[in-house]
Amino acid sequence: MGAVMGSKNLKGVAVRGSKSVKIADPDRYEQIIKKYFFEIIPNRPNHNTQKSLGTVNLIKPFNKSFNLPIRNGQIVHRPDEEINEFFGETFLPKYLIRHFACFSCRVPCQKQVQIHDGPYAGERGRRPEYGCLVSLCTHLDALDFGFSVKLVIPLTSMASMRRSLARRWRWHLNVTSAVS
Ligand code: SF4
Repeated sequence: MGAVMGSKNLKGVAVRGSKSVKIADPDRYEQIIKKYFFEIIPNRPNHNTQKSLGTVNLIKPFNKSFNLPIRNGQIVHRPDEEINEFFGETFLPKYLIRHFACFSCRVPCQKQVQIHDGPYAGERGRRPEYGCLVSLCTHLDALDFGFSVKLVIPLTSMASMRRSLARRWRWHLNVTSAVS
């Protein structure tokens, strides 16, 4: 498909709809939404951890199991005292301002933080999560949480907007196909 598009010098396809999505059975739709929101989601085994820590709950166990990519994967573990600042269990009690969720999500795994000490005092941002803290900061071996907030969070805020819109659309498609 990509090759055919390339051969025709086609760079992309944009589609815009002008009609709303019709729900075949609105009552059944509502039942499914309620079940999903109030039964399935809160009873998942990792729900409370995901809610309180978000994806940073992975950093500690990955480090413990020698599975955390540091310095471009040359190192896979740091002693706890060296990487402690990156554990959600450490930085959230100090810097958390509020929890929040993406559109339509019942799991407020997203966090807003503000640094109030050290050289990065005053830096504030959203979504210090596994993806950015590990993909950028531990890969660079930059294990200063204040620095990570300054460096990474403006990037993840932009990425999160894109992901949120994509999730919102995927979720909507899944639910409407489940009820139609
Ligand atoms: S949709 Fe957003 S808020 Fe909900 S679990 Fe996923 S990342 Fe967290």
